[in-house]
Amino acid sequence: MKVSVILTSYNRPRQVVKAVASVRAQTYSDWELFIVDDNSNDETKAVLNAIVAYEPRCTVIHSGVTHEERAKTTRYATCINLANPKLTGDLVSYLTDDDIYYPERFQKMVDIFERRPDIFVVYGAQRVITVKQGRITAQQVRPLVGVTRSPASLIDHNSIMHRRSCFEVVPRWDDHPAHWGSADAVFFTLLAEHWDFHPVNFITDEHRLHHDSVQVKLSHSVDPWEGGFEN
Ligand code: UDP
Ligand code: MG
Repeated sequence: MKVSVILTSYNRPRQVVKAVASVRAQTYSDWELFIVDDNSNDETKAVLNAIVAYEPRCTVIHSGVTHEERAKTTRYATCINLANPKLTGDLVSYLTDDDIYYPERFQKMVDIFERRPDIFVVYGAQRVITVKQGRITAQQVRPLVGVTRSPASLIDHNSIMHRRSCFEVVPRWDDHPAHWGSADAVFFTLLAEHWDFHPVNFITDEHRLHHDSVQVKLSHSVDPWEGGFEN
């Protein structure tokens, strides 16, 4: 089974390299990676060009979003929808540019899909680390919530994998701008109308909480696109 990964990227040239490296470090090698560049700065674009030059499994899609349009949608959802029609894999996995996968993620998840044709969505545990001024100040593991039809807010989109055929039933992520903090929850709720979410008893990914995230800036009423974006 081939895994299609959608990585959303905006102005984090150093971190996106680590995110891509975590895909390339997977013990399971049958994957394709679509990086959706949300009209990043030149430094980030140069890094992405260098990545596709040495990794044939990797493709960059340019959203070309304008400054005026950027605030009008939940950008990562819009970017996921841009990649969606291009996927050729059997399974879909998501990654954000400031987070990473652990190396056995694909192998452990693919094993389940191969053994259980009745399962359409799986999710893993997530290590959440808080970073302040470049230092880790706290960490915890988001607990698994069992086989569930209520995944909203309990599971992050970096932690799931679903069959690509789910898109035949739920074809797109709702990118309304009100969903910045919860577009994954909105998408998961639609998936859960049809399928259970099955846990993989394993930490599949690492999520960073830091002051340069869009959600944190919005919660402090700061313009998310003003000033620096990478800490
Ligand atoms: N993102 C994007 N366009 C933007 C801003 C952010 O595509 O204009 C992407 C970003 O690259 C990341 C995802 O949205 O992959 C989530 O952003 P962030 O990490 O800032 O938010 P978090 O959900 O971690 O708070
Ligand atoms: Mg983030």
